[in-house]
Amino acid sequence: MINYDSDDYIKSLEEWHPIPGSIEAIAQLSQAGYQVAIATNQSGLSRGYFTLDTLEAIHDHLRTLVADAGGSIAGIFYCPHLPDEGCACRKPGIGLLQSIERELGADLTGAPFVGDSLKDLQAARAALCEPILVRTGKGRGTEARLQEAEVQLAGATRVPVYDDLAAVVGDWL
Ligand SMILES: [Zn+2]
Repeated sequence: MINYDSDDYIKSLEEWHPIPGSIEAIAQLSQAGYQVAIATNQSGLSRGYFTLDTLEAIHDHLRTLVADAGGSIAGIFYCPHLPDEGCACRKPGIGLLQSIERELGADLTGAPFVGDSLKDLQAARAALCEPILVRTGKGRGTEARLQEAEVQLAGATRVPVYDDLAAVVGDWL
């Protein structure tokens, strides 16, 4: 939900484009004292759609854009595995979130977790974060399934839904 998604995967830096307002939103969060971490499923690595060098170039570009906007990203954590590998890190697993806690020395209990897929919301709930859904990326489809998903999510509270990351941050700060 930082960049435009593609069903064909984002395979190069040229294909990576930030959603308007998302870079500024991350910068605002970090300026307000939040540590912003990213947890992303990147099975395209194992599928051979792009290399680790490409993914790191994209992450470097993202960090540079956020820095130019006056903020910083505390960490970017990715899962390179395929869905059927049974790893602990691929969302809805919470391995990436545990890595964030360990490496940033942060307690994610109650932390806002913004995502666009059901896997994001499930990982957020499993790690005791506060899931927030955005309509960018896969978000509209997820929103359509949300009522049914609420049962699976087994959370007491409704998942708030926003148009995009900028709207979340505008409301949060
Ligand atoms: Zn993994």
